[in-house]
Amino acid sequence: MPNGLYGDRHNSSGLEFGHRQSLQALIASLAGQTTQVEAGPLVPGASGQMETQPVLSPADRSRAVGTVRNAAVADVDRAFVAGRKGFARWSKMPVEARAACLDKTADLMEENRDRLLALLSAEAGKTLDDGIAEIREAVDFCRYYAQQARKLFGEAEAMPGPTGESNRLLWRGRGVFACISPWNFPLAIFLGQVSAALVAGNAVVAKPAPQTPLIAFEAVKLMHQAGVPADVLMLLPGGAEVGAAIAAHPALGGLAFTGSTGTAQSINRTLAAKTGPIVPLIAETGGINAMIVDATALAEQVADDVVMSAFRSAGQRCSALRILYLQEDIADGMLEMIEGAARELNLGDPALTTTDVGPVIDEKQKAMLEGHIADMRKGQKVRYAGTVPNTGNFFAPHIVELDKPEALTKEVFGPILHVVRWKAKDLGKVIESINATGYGLTLGVHSRIEQTIRTVTEALDTGNVYINRNMIGAVVGTQPFGGSGMSGTGFKAGGPAYLMRFALEQVISVNT
Ligand code: GLU
Repeated sequence: MPNGLYGDRHNSSGLEFGHRQSLQALIASLAGQTTQVEAGPLVPGASGQMETQPVLSPADRSRAVGTVRNAAVADVDRAFVAGRKGFARWSKMPVEARAACLDKTADLMEENRDRLLALLSAEAGKTLDDGIAEIREAVDFCRYYAQQARKLFGEAEAMPGPTGESNRLLWRGRGVFACISPWNFPLAIFLGQVSAALVAGNAVVAKPAPQTPLIAFEAVKLMHQAGVPADVLMLLPGGAEVGAAIAAHPALGGLAFTGSTGTAQSINRTLAAKTGPIVPLIAETGGINAMIVDATALAEQVADDVVMSAFRSAGQRCSALRILYLQEDIADGMLEMIEGAARELNLGDPALTTTDVGPVIDEKQKAMLEGHIADMRKGQKVRYAGTVPNTGNFFAPHIVELDKPEALTKEVFGPILHVVRWKAKDLGKVIESINATGYGLTLGVHSRIEQTIRTVTEALDTGNVYINRNMIGAVVGTQPFGGSGMSGTGFKAGGPAYLMRFALEQVISVNT
């Protein structure tokens, strides 16, 4: 597949990246610099752990991209103590001042885009197209939430009431909000959560994924530079221990989490067991996302959209296509085309302009994917397995044909496409199987029959439905993103309601 076929349809930030060849030179020249990132906790008075750890490049495990000093568990309490003080000032600031910090952060990201791009490539294994799209998304989140905050929180809303009484509804921050983010969008999702929580008037304690602390560290420094005080936004790099201490902290005002369904459920249990205030959870998790293709679909378009949805970003998107339902009549021809397109993908060094699919994030993920394919080989048909470079955590795109949808029992986060055939009379069964997974994040439909599109869309609670196109790359402010059931709580990221869960309502009634 020619490089550049990927690429987002929209770009609301208008960010330009220039010619690919100069980008290539840039990545090469920055490769050395990124090894100098030394991340650590950004919390006033934090000690951090004694030892530092190298952060290894997913594409080449012999290359340290930088180092991280993780937070000590005692730093969590320090962050909340500082955050309560920061909150007292920040929450009283006019919304405009907070929104201006987000706009300024977006400007700073644009100024620092080359360095961020190099880091996304080196630390997260992002291809250039993915890195560019991610920086655009991070910029968009900041600008969009700034705009939404001005609209939502700017003026107290006058409510109707009887003569002699004034009633006003206003919004305020909830306190110290925790943001726990994933490694697959270490800049965009990290900053999306953080910027929403901040602009709604909260102080923020942010814990990045242990695999990607360097980009988060750089992002927090940009926010500080943009005017967010050090005791209003704090960074606590670390693993599950730090995350658990954050969720259990008595001063926690709310928690935004993006990651696996299992971790979200465990956080939910921790919050539920608390004896103090009831703490809101905003969770965005995974999905066993399906695409339904019937015999009226345009074959070339389906092949392109399937390969993009299943294999772009090495399948490491929670929106990615996991299970493709192909109508029996067209299945053989369609599979041949999809395999052909998969064969054309270039796998390898994410910093090369020719690369379509980079590495998976770490050895653990790679081993999980290998284990899944080994299991699949026992009863199912592995139709296609690409070849991979032997450095780094590479895992090739695979296509597995299942004898029934129930053979796939969990979300498999990587470039593995599962395929099931269905008969025209069995659309109802396909819908039942998709519903039975309990997830509801993304859904693709390829059909030219209006009735089929309507039936499928109405029967499923899926959060984001994509008709006759690929099913990844939701655009901030255009396709608010998030699911239901085991896929998350809502509200949708990049949508008009998202900020509300980060804030508290207050109604002031005055007898005049
Ligand atoms: N918003 C991304 C998309 O639409 C996915 C986010 C995620 O993987 O968590 O592809």
